[in-house]
Amino acid sequence: MRVFESVREWREFRRSGEVAGRSIGFVPTMGALHEGHLSLLQRARRENELVVLSIFVNPTQFNDPGDLKAYPRTLERDLERAREAGVDAVLCPEFAELYPDAYRYKLSEASLSQLLCGRHRPGHFDGVLTVVMKLFMLVRADRAYFGEKDYQQYLLVKGMAEAFFLETGVVPCQTVRESDGLAMSSRNTLLSPEARGLAKTFPGELSSGKSPDQVAAALLEQGFEVDYIEEREGRRFGAVRIGGVRLIDNVRA
Ligand code: AMP
Repeated sequence: MRVFESVREWREFRRSGEVAGRSIGFVPTMGALHEGHLSLLQRARRENELVVLSIFVNPTQFNDPGDLKAYPRTLERDLERAREAGVDAVLCPEFAELYPDAYRYKLSEASLSQLLCGRHRPGHFDGVLTVVMKLFMLVRADRAYFGEKDYQQYLLVKGMAEAFFLETGVVPCQTVRESDGLAMSSRNTLLSPEARGLAKTFPGELSSGKSPDQVAAALLEQGFEVDYIEEREGRRFGAVRIGGVRLIDNVRA
């Protein structure tokens, strides 16, 4: 497995005979890899000749500096897991490598990005779309794999790929859950034991037959802060905070 911190070295490798003519599956992540990420890597492994993983905690998508600081970083362990998953190349650049423009240039979407998480995290999806575009340009994959856990992100990335005629297909992958139903997330490791105990009721409430308002009321009563519970695009979306940790999830409506 090749590991690239330098964008220049990555670009040389991408142009080399080792890569030319082989299909590429790409999985962009912010690291702290868990079974959800691994399911994307496994699918990429099955469907492509080469698998490329990126690990980059993207500061431009964090509207809350405390959240960025607390975000788990486990690079050595991530590289071990990536090796076990059969990844061929990992791209893990520093901020200055990926943002030579210091974020003077950004990509934005004018509609869906303003709703749901976009309404509660100003600028979040500008950061997401910008970094995904940069990574797509560098990797030039045939297919890129995105989790339905971040369904709004998946829709926005897919829309961007269509709007800009990108050659990379955007493939949605099912949400992987803990045995009690909680969607796997790198942020779950930040939950205290009490908060983790409570967190499992979030997916249950979301998929109950209650109305969005009733779900929000039930979660509030149990001690969650509720950013939103809302139905759109045939799905029911929710975002809550518990013990200072923000959790999102969505299910078919
Ligand atoms: P992240 O590292 O959280 O930015 O996630 C990287 C990719 O993994 C995104 O496409 C996520 O949607 C996906 N992902 C994260 N958690 C899960 C999960 N529990 N199941 C499936 N995909 C996931």
